[in-house]
Amino acid sequence: MIAFDNSYARLPEQAFTRLSATPVQDPKLRAWNAPMATQLGLAGLEDAAKTQIFSGNDVPTGAEPLAALYAGHQFGNWNPQLGDGRAILLGEVLDSQGERWDIQLKGSGPTPYSRAGDGRNWVGPALREYLISEAMHALGVPTTRALAIVTTGETVMREAPRPGAIVTRVARSHIRVGTFQVFAARGDVEALEAVMNHVIERHYPTASGPEELLVQVVAAQAELIAQWMSFGFIHGVMNTDNAHVAGDTIDYGPCAFMDAYHPGKVFSSIDQQGRYAYANQPNIGAWNMAQLATSLLPLMPDRETGIESFTEIINGFADVYQSAWRRRFGAKLGLDALDDGQVDLMGDLLKIMADKQADFTNVFRDLSGTLHLDHPDFAAWLNRWQSMAPNTAIMDAANPKLIPRNHLVEEAIQSAVYDNWELFHELNQALASPFSHISEPRFAEPPTPDQEVRQTFCGT
Ligand code: AMP
Ligand code: MG
Repeated sequence: MIAFDNSYARLPEQAFTRLSATPVQDPKLRAWNAPMATQLGLAGLEDAAKTQIFSGNDVPTGAEPLAALYAGHQFGNWNPQLGDGRAILLGEVLDSQGERWDIQLKGSGPTPYSRAGDGRNWVGPALREYLISEAMHALGVPTTRALAIVTTGETVMREAPRPGAIVTRVARSHIRVGTFQVFAARGDVEALEAVMNHVIERHYPTASGPEELLVQVVAAQAELIAQWMSFGFIHGVMNTDNAHVAGDTIDYGPCAFMDAYHPGKVFSSIDQQGRYAYANQPNIGAWNMAQLATSLLPLMPDRETGIESFTEIINGFADVYQSAWRRRFGAKLGLDALDDGQVDLMGDLLKIMADKQADFTNVFRDLSGTLHLDHPDFAAWLNRWQSMAPNTAIMDAANPKLIPRNHLVEEAIQSAVYDNWELFHELNQALASPFSHISEPRFAEPPTPDQEVRQTFCGT
């Protein structure tokens, strides 16, 4: 019995399509997030019920399954209609703290928004999403969560035939910048206003209208991206339909944590121009917020003053981002928020790291210990930094020992394709405490040149 309390299904009907998941042949439960299940009040479910529900074969009592409509800018190009093309929102539950969570099946079959897609998912992207989103959570980064993976017993055609899988995503909501965009573009002010009120009630209860909402979304987004930067995380598809209005990381497609540091690093095979490169993420975050502002304009009493006010709010993104970045990167050096001189200090270290293609995670982790970089400027840099009396306890809490390294995630996928989920479970367990203890030394090592994953794929 799941205690559903569905609020999205009460929005105007044009915001979604009601439909259930398409049943699958031979569902097998491969991953189950027991702590998350307990938090959601799902701990009592029998294995058979889990398998039936989280494959989409059984619609549990109280669920009101639907596919949500949204639009979005993909790589800067406007797409007037996207939506849940391979996902079904089962409904919402309130956790023990009263926090509301969406339960969504991803890979659950075609919907009216599938366009040319098959609505399915395979083991690779399902495993990536589960592992990386849970690792992000353990790092303290706001993110959607993962509850379960069920393999379907069906084959999905991609570059080659792949084993099908459904990942159950749990999220504070699935409302994106693109959810606002679709109704603004259609001139549907009724739905636009309903979505705004829903977002305010759910995520920003202190906001009294579009302006205060925008201020808070901008701040959440700037804070989030500063956190991504501090862990070397590259989202890879920062389209407006993948920009969550609550400031959570969403849609783990071709995302990756950098091993060797380079500001221009790109992993995604489809990001030919480097639009979503590591160092470009804050600019794109601000650009996405400008799209949200444009969509909120019809809700302002007066267009001209609305534009004026929103422009100022969007210009404020850079300030929030800068101070968040100074705080996060200061902690990485064991310092308070970086002052102007210390920003240069960080810049000099990053330059040395880029020259040496040093491992982003391990440089910061080893800085308080025995790090040596064979670079002409490093010794002088180290003296300068040590003269500032860095606090190693602060560093240890800011610099993880473990990140979900690409080559390990890929290795886990290769095994899972052959029904061996052991490495997935080992990695998942290790990544749950990324700052403390390294249980398995190889999980903390950067890839050797032949292990290195240079490109990642959407895998849709
Ligand atoms: P993404 O940027 O990967 O989140 O996906 C962009 C859009 O494509 C969304 O509307 C998805 O629902 C849709 N999409 C991605 N993969 C598939 C698929 N296999 N079948 C149907 N729709 C898909
Ligand atoms: Mg998406």
